[in-house]
Amino acid sequence: MTSRPSAARSPRRLRDLLAAGEPSYSFEFFPAKDAAGERDLWAAIRRVEAVRPTFVSVTYGAGGSSRDRTIATTERIAAHSTLLPVAHLTAVGHARAELRAIIRRYADAGIHDVLALRGDPPGDPRGAWQPHPQGCHHAAELVQLLKESGSFTVGVAAFPERHPRSPDWESDIRHFVAKCRAGADYAITQMFFRVDDYLRLRDKVAAAGCATPIIPEIMPATAYGQIRRFAELSNAAFPAELAARLADARGDAAAGHRIGVEHATRMADRLLQEGAPGLHFITLNRSTAALEIYRNLGLDQPVASAA
Ligand code: FAD
Repeated sequence: MTSRPSAARSPRRLRDLLAAGEPSYSFEFFPAKDAAGERDLWAAIRRVEAVRPTFVSVTYGAGGSSRDRTIATTERIAAHSTLLPVAHLTAVGHARAELRAIIRRYADAGIHDVLALRGDPPGDPRGAWQPHPQGCHHAAELVQLLKESGSFTVGVAAFPERHPRSPDWESDIRHFVAKCRAGADYAITQMFFRVDDYLRLRDKVAAAGCATPIIPEIMPATAYGQIRRFAELSNAAFPAELAARLADARGDAAAGHRIGVEHATRMADRLLQEGAPGLHFITLNRSTAALEIYRNLGLDQPVASAA
């Protein structure tokens, strides 16, 4: 495998590092539901901390207590680890005043990195979008709100196979570029399993005159049933050859793990060779497969992370 620089190594802000063209390697977690989940989450966070990634992110739930747990987990990472936490935030069910209060709470905890998302309708992620009457209609408005609220580095979502509800590529790219122009510093993609889908998106965005770095998300496909569900939800095409190999491995978790890690390593390697500005790994709060891919790519050298 090609030798390449590992994670960001200076005390600069994430946006400066990306603007300077340095690679960003990150890992995504979700807030735990109970004490056992919290133990697993923190074990995974500590394993990831040891390889000193550029940042880790924490997803934002559809409502209620899961949202408080996102905020608490992000604050705890900021206070009790050496990691740079990025908080996901969605517009679902929030008036602008509530969004401002959450943003203030992050700033008070020293968190200045947020992934700004519209979110999906609670209950049916594929249902029609209903903005809060006093809220943000689209992610671009949340980006603006964050930028008006202080010195935030803001990320947004990108869709290699276009957003499932976008009627065509033209409007999808136009709205993506609008949220970048609203102030987004970088984007992270939805999961995908074919490198060419990422390259097509990147080329379309560049052709529209937008240079915002788009970090590909890496989802290790280690179990047939689970990945099929995720792919259906996110609209990600699942290559027939990978599906067939995983289907053959059903009932053999070790074989599924090997197949998923091998496919994701090959994808990630090609993405970096094609000039992707980094990689964002889904961990599902376990981190084993993600870290294996990270190591396969030679990215686990001990270095200083971004501040
Ligand atoms: P938007 O950018 O607002 O786009 C949504 C749709 O509206 C697109 O079709 C777009 O083209 C269209 N659109 C945008 N602006 C306009 C306009 N002005 N007029 C008309 N149409 C417009 N969800 C969660 O609930 N929690 C999370 O933590 C979370 N994390 C995510 C992380 C990543 C990396 C990604 C890729 C997605 C994540 N999501 C999360 C899912 C995300 O909330 C959904 O995919 C959602 O449907 C789209 O969010 P968005 O921010 O891209 O929305």
